[in-house]
Amino acid sequence: MNYRPYGKLGYEVSSLGLGCMRLPRVPDGNGGMKVDLEKAFELIRYAAEHGITYFDTAFGYHNQTSEAVLGEALEGKYRSKVKIATKQPFNVMKTQGDIRRNLENTLKKLRTDYIDVYLIHNIQAGVWDEIKRRKVYEEYEKFCEEGMIKAIGFSYHGGYDTFSDVMNTYDWDMCQVQQNLLDVDQEVTEKAIKLAGEKGTALVIMEPLRGGGLVNAPAPVKEVYDSAPVKRPAVEWAFRHLINYPQISTILSGMSTLEQLKDNIEIFSKPDAVPGCLSPEDKDVIARAKKAYESIVTISCTGCEYCLPCPKGVNIPGVFSRYNDGHMFGAFDQPRRSYMFLGRSGGDATNCVACGACETKCPQHIDIINQLKIAHKALEGWVE
Ligand code: SF4
Ligand code: SF4
Repeated sequence: MNYRPYGKLGYEVSSLGLGCMRLPRVPDGNGGMKVDLEKAFELIRYAAEHGITYFDTAFGYHNQTSEAVLGEALEGKYRSKVKIATKQPFNVMKTQGDIRRNLENTLKKLRTDYIDVYLIHNIQAGVWDEIKRRKVYEEYEKFCEEGMIKAIGFSYHGGYDTFSDVMNTYDWDMCQVQQNLLDVDQEVTEKAIKLAGEKGTALVIMEPLRGGGLVNAPAPVKEVYDSAPVKRPAVEWAFRHLINYPQISTILSGMSTLEQLKDNIEIFSKPDAVPGCLSPEDKDVIARAKKAYESIVTISCTGCEYCLPCPKGVNIPGVFSRYNDGHMFGAFDQPRRSYMFLGRSGGDATNCVACGACETKCPQHIDIINQLKIAHKALEGWVE
């Protein structure tokens, strides 16, 4: 396993981190799904025994059970050898007391006296103003003084303007953003990587395989990879795109099987899987693979957001990107799961009242109302 500095905190972490949002699952007997404890423990402990030193979870993952599963798996001989990062959701931050109670609960679930990195989960433009007004991060500083947490960070999925405001408002220890070879042109990810590097903020990457989709190479992408001078599986190309950035501390992958874990450990343990690993030819292969993936997209949404805000809160580009991912990767499981989460935050297509306000603003002239219905039909029905 290769290791990298964790920002300015003075220690190193494994360049591959285990994300605990896609642990193995089994039916729960009530029409839903629950974590398969036996397989999850085996997965987590195998990771800890084979060089992975960074484990990421969140209060909300797996119906609020992920922290407890991780805590039980790592309790005892593993705990002192690894770093645990977890995230607190904004909806429990109504009062200072709520923030503290939630943290105390998380510590109990994780069966530990301290959390290595405590994140504000999924900061978005709307909630950031409130977090900033209340200086929630200063509340976290008190937890640091009390020894309950060791470092303060945030996770983020939005645009660059809010990201830079978040980064420039407080001296964060770490930040966690989405990046993968399909998102490389997204302003926030490229610029975010640069800004985090300049500030010495530990940078953690999530969704390196875009919900697992980049593991599959549909025919046009396979053609590109087959033509490359060096033969590598699709998943290795996707990881190498990120390994190449010197600013990144660790790349989280939400692995669900031992087989995936072993394959990924092998990739991240290669002596040449280090910053600057991509040759000009490799970069060309990745750029062509990206174009090949994009050629499969079925709704020509560019994610420009000109159609937003929708008066009913529909996250129009969010619905379309999940639908396109399903088609692009030939697999709808992860897009459906992600769509279920979008629905929980009120952004799915069921809220559309067909007012038509969005369609006149779309530079791609997409018949949004109709396409939302088609996308919803393909994405509905995930049970968690
Ligand atoms: S048509 Fe639907 S998606 Fe478009 S703005 Fe109106 S409610 Fe929102
Ligand atoms: S305006 Fe059109 S292209 Fe832009 S995000 Fe909305 S639907 Fe997509």
